[in-house]
Amino acid sequence: MGKATGFMEIEREEAVDRDPVERVKDWKEYSAPFTDEVAERQGERCMDCGTPFCHIGMEVGNATSGCPVYNLIPEWNDLVYKGKWKDALDRLLKTNNFPEFTGRVCPAPCEGSCTVAISEPAIAIKNIEQAIIDKGFEKGWIKPRIPEERTGKTVAIIGSGPAGMAAADQLNQAGHSVTIYERDDRAGGLLMYGIPNMKLEKDIVTRRIKLLEQEGVEIVLNTEVGKDITADELKEQFDSVIVCTGAQKPRDLIVEGRESSGIHLAMDYLTTATKKVLDDKTVVPATLNAADKDVIVIGGGDTGADCVATALRQGAKSIAQFGINPALPLKRTSDNMWPEYPQVFSLEYAHKEAKEAFGEDIREYSVLTKKAVTDENGQLKELHTVEMIKTRDENGMFVYQETPGTEKVWPAELVVIAIGFEGPEQPLLKQFGIETNRNKIDATYGEFDTNIEGVFAAGDSRRGPSLIVWAINEGREVAYAVDNYLMGATSLPTVLAV
Ligand SMILES: Cc1cc2nc3c(=O)[nH]c(=O)nc-3n(C[C@H](O)[C@H](O)[C@H](O)COP(=O)(O)OP(=O)(O)OC[C@H]3O[C@@H](n4cnc5c(N)ncnc54)[C@H](O)[C@@H]3O)c2cc1C
Ligand code: SF4
Repeated sequence: MGKATGFMEIEREEAVDRDPVERVKDWKEYSAPFTDEVAERQGERCMDCGTPFCHIGMEVGNATSGCPVYNLIPEWNDLVYKGKWKDALDRLLKTNNFPEFTGRVCPAPCEGSCTVAISEPAIAIKNIEQAIIDKGFEKGWIKPRIPEERTGKTVAIIGSGPAGMAAADQLNQAGHSVTIYERDDRAGGLLMYGIPNMKLEKDIVTRRIKLLEQEGVEIVLNTEVGKDITADELKEQFDSVIVCTGAQKPRDLIVEGRESSGIHLAMDYLTTATKKVLDDKTVVPATLNAADKDVIVIGGGDTGADCVATALRQGAKSIAQFGINPALPLKRTSDNMWPEYPQVFSLEYAHKEAKEAFGEDIREYSVLTKKAVTDENGQLKELHTVEMIKTRDENGMFVYQETPGTEKVWPAELVVIAIGFEGPEQPLLKQFGIETNRNKIDATYGEFDTNIEGVFAAGDSRRGPSLIVWAINEGREVAYAVDNYLMGATSLPTVLAV
């Protein structure tokens, strides 16, 4: 909605990020929010397209198109355009439990499938989403919603990431007594330890967790299910259990010299850095500190970019980020057309910062690490690489081949491995007897029940490594399934029944 001709009259504006040279000197959020005036003007650009694709929430071509929580985007764009901020907030909260997270760090597949984006830059949906929820908190419109009645049913949720938090929020509002078990010392899952502070300040995460607690959700920290409390104890004590443990089993690099001192997994590196931001007394071991070091991040994805931004703030001497794939094209190609997520080259926040710091894009494409070499003290000193060519075989599958003569040696004193995750950690699943399928919990989307009676699963542990917005979707949908299981009926919302 908005103004039918708005997209022809008004240019897309994005939130103005802080200066990359200045922001690497601290750990505060790198982006600055929209002013009301800009948000209202950008809402005006939302055309009356009739059949919006921005909220279709589908996997197309191995990527997400449209908003997975089916946010009512055209409606709240229109309300913001008209200055009806409170109404916009009410609409937004109908579908998204935590817009303050997605409005900051969602990759915004909604914008890739925005109708305006067929020919013009998309509506700045994500920035408008953040502006609405930030105003909600600022104006005091977000208040604890304490359920008036309790059902007497109890639910245990294992894991306090966005999937567990969304499931807890929905089930608590349905009147059930919800307890979240979290093994870390702080709740939030990868929102807390994973996504760095400069992308998502931890006060924002804590604010939501406190709200959930005020509303009646119990959160038990420093408690690993499977060790501190067993699967059987949990099943006995609760009417239902939801596994939201994420997919944090790291994928490791299998190369000669991997055992060298100075090579670390991304989650160890990022978690320690965040702990230091949250508590200055935390001691970052020298081996996990990039200060004055030649740093190489292996892995060309978003986790790798977060490691680059972290190393910059720690004062790295040099940084290179290796990716196995070639650089993405500057524009959509014929096999990646609208409304698919645009697979195009971009400079992420970390890469903009690194370019300012070192004068060039620090990404290296089509690189395979062959071995790590140490000095006489076993301390890492260099990585050896070769370039790769990516082609398709006769079955259309991608294959990578080394290019002879392209071997290279890189100075390296700290290497961070950010090549993804293999899936959920197994010991807990074994204790429950939960079956898995291709490194994911075997539970059908829409039903979410595992092979164990009364035990459900949602989020990355069921879907595989994904996005916050999908974790929220799964948390909401598993709550619908669990409420139905406990009560024989449910009035919780679902996007699956439409
Ligand atoms: C570095 C990094 C950056 C990312 N950046 C983005 C981004 O910018 N945007 C985006 O959309 N997505 C991003 N993601 C992905 C996103 O964070 C995840 O898809 C999302 O957090 C998954 O939510 P979840 O609730 O399923 O699991 P998680 O967030 O992984 O939470 C699982 C929780 O379960 C706990 N747990 C595990 N086992 C047990 C146990 N036995 N007992 C008790 N507790 C347990 C863990 O400690 C953890 O707190 C990023 C991921 C990483 C790794
Ligand atoms: S949650 Fe993500 S996909 Fe949905 S509207 Fe917000 S930015 Fe877009």
